Amino acid sequence: MSEVKQVDVLIGGQGAAAFAAGLYSSRYQVDTLIAGEQFGGETAIGGTIENYPGQPDIDGFDLMMKFKEQVDKLETPTAYSNLKTISKNGDVFRVVLDDDTEIDAISVILAVGRERRKLSLPKEEEWTGNGVSYCSTCDAPLYRNKAAAAVVGGGNAAVEGAVLLSKYAATVYLVYRRDELTRPEPILLKVLEQTDNVKVLYSTEVVELLGSDEAGLTGIRLSKPWEGQDELTIDGLFVEAGADPRLEIPNQLGLEINPDTGEVHVDRSLKTSVEGIYAAGDLTDGTDLKQTITAAAQGAVAALSAYQHVQEVKAGRHDAVQASPAAVSGS
Ligand SMILES: Cc1cc2nc3c(=O)[nH]c(=O)nc-3n(C[C@H](O)[C@H](O)[C@H](O)COP(=O)(O)OP(=O)(O)OC[C@H]3O[C@@H](n4cnc5c(N)ncnc54)[C@H](O)[C@@H]3O)c2cc1C
Repeated sequence: MSEVKQVDVLIGGQGAAAFAAGLYSSRYQVDTLIAGEQFGGETAIGGTIENYPGQPDIDGFDLMMKFKEQVDKLETPTAYSNLKTISKNGDVFRVVLDDDTEIDAISVILAVGRERRKLSLPKEEEWTGNGVSYCSTCDAPLYRNKAAAAVVGGGNAAVEGAVLLSKYAATVYLVYRRDELTRPEPILLKVLEQTDNVKVLYSTEVVELLGSDEAGLTGIRLSKPWEGQDELTIDGLFVEAGADPRLEIPNQLGLEINPDTGEVHVDRSLKTSVEGIYAAGDLTDGTDLKQTITAAAQGAVAALSAYQHVQEVKAGRHDAVQASPAAVSGS
């Protein structure tokens, strides 16, 4: 049987929160491991980041490379495998990664982010990458000189996606189930207003994906006709309908979930409801502002809390050894 690795702090994730936690944790000189399969998280695929202080107009992937380089300088190891299971085992947490590596950690920082929401329509999965996409910033250039694309959603990502796509496709439909766009930042709404080739279809949902397995997606059926038609012929559909916190690992530990947001509940120290487990970034209800800077800030705070917990556990073990008669007699 392979050996169980021992670390002080295990960080789950490879996004902004995880790397910031890794940076701070390593600087506290505790034995730290970052574990996650996909480098960079959402920031790395978010296109140009214009609001990260000190790094104006930087590509998200390049920004995450800078995060990683800073952590690598401290020789913090990374395991390129996701957390599969976690359980409490005495005063440590036993974590098993997807590659079956077993790790005992005194403290764990969960920074596993959120999963993009799907429409749950037939053929959505099969046609992903063949007309269906969940990342307009990644895939918009594929629609250069195409006739039409559609974006589903009503938040910042949907509006940003529609505006970006308007630079490539001749017509872009923004399909939104409510009757008003209230969530996007005002500056984005202003840009949207000024973008003539984006048509906003309010109070409308996509009810069917049209196409074939050979051609992939070629159109969508709407819940409500647009200019007399309930079918739109499009080259690509971008689902930007929000995201749900990844709760598989938190649920294994029975962490308290915020009933209003569905996010892992944390206090101001980023402590969860289970001692020794901290959470940071988009996974948590620590802030409504889900951004790279807030994720990084939470990672830093979580690292301090995890460090303090490690110190307490080690001090407790030391005290226990000191108090043990066996230890005193040396037997
Ligand atoms: C299209 C788009 C554009 C954006 N633009 C901006 C912007 O301009 N400015 C800005 O500040 N923010 C922007 N954001 C938001 C920003 O990207 C997020 O707030 C930020 O990435 C959150 O960081 P995080 O570390 O909490 O989570 P994530 O970046 O989502 O990272 C989570 C990590 O956990 C990993 N993971 C998942 N499951 C497991 C598991 N079981 N075990 C281990 N690891 C796991 C994931 O693979 C990933 O590496 C944008 C987001 C999107 C989607």
